[in-house]
Amino acid sequence: MSKYALSKSNYISGLQCERRLWLDTHRPAEALPTGDAQQHIFRMGTEVGEAAQRLFPDGVRVHAPASEHWLAVEKTRELIADRSIPAIFGAAFEFEGVRVCVDILERIDAEWPRFGIRDVKSSTCVKTAQYIPGLAIQKWVLENCGLSIVSTELVHLDADFVRGAGEIIWPALFRRAELIDRLADAEMKAVGANVEGMRKTLAMPAPPEREPADFCKRPRPCPFWNSCTADKPGRWFIERGGAKEERKAIMLEVTETQEPWVSESLEEDLDALQAPFWALGLRAIGASIPLFEGTRPYQPIPFQWSLHRLSSDGTLQHFQFLASGRNDPRDEISSALVRTLEQDASPILVYSGYEKRRLKEMAAALPHLESSLLAIVGRLVDLLPIVRRNVYHPDFLGSYSIQYVAPALSPPLTYTDMVDVSNGTTATAAFARLVEREISPDDEVKLRDAMAEYSERDTRSLIDMYRSLRALAGRHERALGESDTPE
Ligand code: SF4
Repeated sequence: MSKYALSKSNYISGLQCERRLWLDTHRPAEALPTGDAQQHIFRMGTEVGEAAQRLFPDGVRVHAPASEHWLAVEKTRELIADRSIPAIFGAAFEFEGVRVCVDILERIDAEWPRFGIRDVKSSTCVKTAQYIPGLAIQKWVLENCGLSIVSTELVHLDADFVRGAGEIIWPALFRRAELIDRLADAEMKAVGANVEGMRKTLAMPAPPEREPADFCKRPRPCPFWNSCTADKPGRWFIERGGAKEERKAIMLEVTETQEPWVSESLEEDLDALQAPFWALGLRAIGASIPLFEGTRPYQPIPFQWSLHRLSSDGTLQHFQFLASGRNDPRDEISSALVRTLEQDASPILVYSGYEKRRLKEMAAALPHLESSLLAIVGRLVDLLPIVRRNVYHPDFLGSYSIQYVAPALSPPLTYTDMVDVSNGTTATAAFARLVEREISPDDEVKLRDAMAEYSERDTRSLIDMYRSLRALAGRHERALGESDTPE
C-alpha cells in the first residue's frame, strides 16, 4: 500500500491535474493561502451542511478531531452497528489508504443493512458532471469496506425556495437528486484505475510537468496557479487571454514599454461627465440560507451604500448608509438613497453594471419606490466601458476589474491598513455577523466603523479614478500604428 493517503478532495484535485495532486501533498506551502472570499464560501458551505442535517431527524454526528481519521472510522463502525440510528453525519471510512467522510450516511433499511450516500452541496443546481467524481470515490470506498450502497443523492439548495415568516421550513429549502444511475460499473472501475494512477504520481520524486491552461480554473481554481506561472513573462498572460487581436497588440506593447496607452477619444468620452456628479457604491449580501422573509437563496440584498458628490468647484461631500441588520434592509436603504440623490439631478458615476442590477431588483421588490429607483438608474454613468475603450495601463495585468484598475490609476489609495474590512467579501461577511448577532455591542461599533470606512474609500477611489483619467486624457500622445482602434 502507498505511504501517501488520498482524501476525497485530493482525488478530485488529482482528476483536475496530477501536478496539483503532487503539490498538494508534497509542497502545500506553495499554494495560495485561502482568501477571504474562499473562507466565506467555506463558511456558507458549513452552514448549509448543518442545515441539511435537519432533514434527517435522530441522525448522530461522528465526533473526532479532523487529524484522527482512524478514530472517526472507529466511531462510525460503532454507529453503523446500532441499527436504531437512521443517519450518521460525517461518517468516516478508509480503504487501502483512501479516506472519505460522508456528509450524511442514511440507513435505508434497518433489517437488511443498505445505505444511501447524501452529499450536501450549497449550490442551487445539480452540476452533475462536476459532482459525480466525488460521489464515485465515496461509493468506491464504502463498498470496498463492505457496505451495500443503494442510493447516492446530491442534497442541494432549491433556487425557488422563498423564506416565509418565522422559522425556515428546512425540507422546503433543499432538493434531493438521485444519481445512482450515473455510477454504473464502468464508472466505478475507472475509480480504481484513477486511484492507482494517483498513487504512482504521489510516489514520483518531483512534480509532473503540466503547462498551465484553462483546465487550471475548473472545476475549482487551482491554488498553485501563481507558483506554476511565476516564471511566465507578462506577454504569456496576454497571449492566452480572450482579448481581441487589436487590443492584444496594445496590451503587449504596454507590457513591453511599461507606459500606459490612452486613446484620443478618452477626453470626449469624459466630457459627458462634468461636475457636479455623484459616485455611488452599493454593497449587497447573497446568503445561501435566506436571511429575510420573502427572499431566496443567494438573492442579493443591498445593505450599504456610499455616495460622494463632486461639486463644480471641486468640493467633495460624502454620504453613506449602513443597515442595522435587524430586518430586511431594502426599504430603508432605498428610501435613504432616494432622499439623498433627490438633492439634484446630476449624473451618478459607477464602475460596472452591479449597481444598476441591484437598483432594478429593489425597484421590482418595492413598488412604492419603483419610479424613484428607476429614475436613479437612468442617471447612472458606467466608468468601466469608458476605461475599457480608452485606457490600458501596465498594472491592469490584462484585467479591467476594479481591483486592478483603481490602484493602477490612483496608487495612493490602498486598503492594506484596514484589518477588519479590507474588501467586498469581508464587508459582506461583517454584515452577516451583524444580522446573526454573534458579536458584542463594543465589537459591533468597531465593525460598523470599519465597514463605513471601507465603503467611503470605495467611492472616493471612483472620484480619484475619474480625476486620474482626466489627467491622462491630456496625454494621449502615443498611437500604436494605423490600426490603433480599441475593441
Ligand atoms: S496551476 Fe494548473 S498546471 Fe499548475 S498545478 Fe494547478 S492545475 Fe496543475
